[in-house]
Amino acid sequence: MNLILFGPPGAGKGTQSTLICEKFNLKQISTGDLLRLEINKGSVLGKEIENIINNGNFVSDLIVLELLEKVISSKDYTNNFILDGYPRNLNQIKNLNDILNKNNQYISGIIFLNVHKEIIKKRIDGRVFCTKCKKMFNTYFNPPNKNNHTCKDEFLQKRSDDNLKTILHRYDTYMDQTEPVLDYYKKDSSFYEIDGNQEISDIFVEINSILSNLSNWH
Ligand code: AMP
Repeated sequence: MNLILFGPPGAGKGTQSTLICEKFNLKQISTGDLLRLEINKGSVLGKEIENIINNGNFVSDLIVLELLEKVISSKDYTNNFILDGYPRNLNQIKNLNDILNKNNQYISGIIFLNVHKEIIKKRIDGRVFCTKCKKMFNTYFNPPNKNNHTCKDEFLQKRSDDNLKTILHRYDTYMDQTEPVLDYYKKDSSFYEIDGNQEISDIFVEINSILSNLSNWH
């Protein structure tokens, strides 16, 4: 079973992907994470990517495609992945369909997390990540100190592109370039829309019920 988890920045795709992967034994492919890995390498390409991401713009389709293709074509990811953050424009849909065909893979379901702009702002603005235990928290909705988080505060970090100015630009780019992707997938018989404004656990209950049915067939 391969899935696409779709939604605006801050919709909770990363959080839900982690839960889905645990329950359904799938592997997450986040193009944002692949790009951040490249940044951490400190290469010239990494520096270029960092600049683009920090300005809230999209990295070029070609760069993302190369990173993605390496992962999807590897044996470990054959028919057991969740795409988080891809495709983000119409050309990326075409690129994805090409990679899937080449690797004899298909998408079993597309899940869209629909979230209001005001909630998105708080989800992104409050997002913090613990570099020690690798868990995500949110200072507004899911604060680390109320979640039995025992690592020291010094391990908590914010993503450099999670500031209000960049959030608003990322949202506009989503509306402009990524909404057409939604129109494309809405026509698919395996498209599911979920109210992503709910609590993490309530969203997961809905996803779980969709995927439990899907996994019986794929
Ligand atoms: P994310 O972790 O999904 O929020 O992505 C963080 C940033 O990485 C985005 O704001 C973009 O700058 C870049 N990015 C992630 N995925 C893509 C993609 N599919 N196409 C272009 N840029 C991307």
